[in-house]
Amino acid sequence: MIRRFLGNVFSGRLFQSARPRVIPLKTHRIARDHVSRHATKVCETLQQHKHAAYVVGGAVRDLLLGGIPKDYDVATDARPEEVRAIFRRSRIIGRRFRLVHVMFGNETIEVSTFRGSGEGADSADAAGAGDHKTDEHGRILRDNVFGSLEDDARRRDFTVNAMFYDPVREEVLDYHGGIADIKARRLRMIGDPAQRYREDPIRMLRAVRLAAARGLEIETHSRKPIRALAGLLLNVPKARVFDEMMKMLLSGHAAEGVRRLRKEGLHHGVLPLLDVILEQPLGERFVMLALENTDSRINEGKTVSPGFLFAALLWHEVLAAWKAAEARAMHTMPALFEAMDKVLQVQAEKLAIPRRFGADMKDIWALQARLLNRSGRRPYLLLEHPKFRAGFDFLLLRCQSREVDGEMGDWWEKFQHAEEPARAGMLMKEGPSAAKKRRRPRRKKPAAAAPARESGAA
Ligand code: ATP
Ligand code: MG
Repeated sequence: MIRRFLGNVFSGRLFQSARPRVIPLKTHRIARDHVSRHATKVCETLQQHKHAAYVVGGAVRDLLLGGIPKDYDVATDARPEEVRAIFRRSRIIGRRFRLVHVMFGNETIEVSTFRGSGEGADSADAAGAGDHKTDEHGRILRDNVFGSLEDDARRRDFTVNAMFYDPVREEVLDYHGGIADIKARRLRMIGDPAQRYREDPIRMLRAVRLAAARGLEIETHSRKPIRALAGLLLNVPKARVFDEMMKMLLSGHAAEGVRRLRKEGLHHGVLPLLDVILEQPLGERFVMLALENTDSRINEGKTVSPGFLFAALLWHEVLAAWKAAEARAMHTMPALFEAMDKVLQVQAEKLAIPRRFGADMKDIWALQARLLNRSGRRPYLLLEHPKFRAGFDFLLLRCQSREVDGEMGDWWEKFQHAEEPARAGMLMKEGPSAAKKRRRPRRKKPAAAAPARESGAA
């Protein structure tokens, strides 16, 4: 009893309000019709079944900030099975903590049951209470416990992420002063920041990503422990760090995110991907250009391929290994292939880059060597290459960073769009080495063999 009391004092629980501030429409100004009608429908239906149901998390934050949420989460006191039974087009997902996806055409509303932090069994589900394990650094390994609305607010990370919007009553419930922080454009951790980062070090990355993407400042106390605790990220499963980094890189604010990670001391030996981004003296300019380019594509609603992005992030590593192999008198193409394999092998493991991106990366890199050759039939063949566009865009970035002469990019730009015979007129004269190669007698292929494809980037 005394232990629990002291625990609550130290975790700040007794100082947090048990009652939320109820913010009316005239103050928060999120009218029902600003909200996804599917999210509203889910809340309405759950409420008709006598459950509590609110839009929560990032969607409320983004609506209050005047943005458009990218997706909607709903929190309810209904259990996953109950939610599943109410909505015909729904399914239960997740093993550790079960959620329900309710589907409407191409929009999916994620519905989760209020969660508790697992400390103390007061309001938690009896079956799940106490299922709250930490490792030796205080990182929470399991927290699959149901809780009350208030518990659910407290286990969230930032005050601005812990508000509940009821689309039926058009009210916002605010337990932790999120509205004031939205007004001040401030990201403030709920509870004791150092403890919350220890419980889940990913929160440090989330702080930086959200601050960069939404133009918020991380409040002083929430910011202060980050530098000292950065090393705890090494303790988090690689795949989770990778996913969080991907969110940042594809947020449309990657360049700003990377700058802020550096400012908070969250690189160097902690995030291998960021070491690659920030620790290459020659590549930094290229990498920042690639990030800015990715940001503009995303903000224009275009797609970006993670393969392209990784190819860019690792390009200067490949370039260095390529030059080194050529210095050992290897020919251009085999030297590049050796370099690609070497970099992919080392980095793919270190960065946990999923294997499926490797093929795109190799195509894009191999095209960099093939684009050098602008004579004979080869440029025509390259235009047909399925990854030509990506390879060409990559070349333009290299020109922009002044690694390659701009003339090369201009030539390919013109060549693609030129009509014959102007196009043929653009071709370069073959060098003596290429001519010599062609004079070499070809080995006869066996009649039944399939026609050989061009090696490399196919
Ligand atoms: P985004 O715009 O990237 O979706 P988000 O805040 O909605 O931002 P999600 O990952 O979708 O991020 O998470 C939804 C909500 O879940 C958050 O708003 C927050 O309340 C809570 N949450 C997510 N991750 C954590 C975490 N690591 N610790 C505590 N709460 C979290
Ligand atoms: Mg979200």
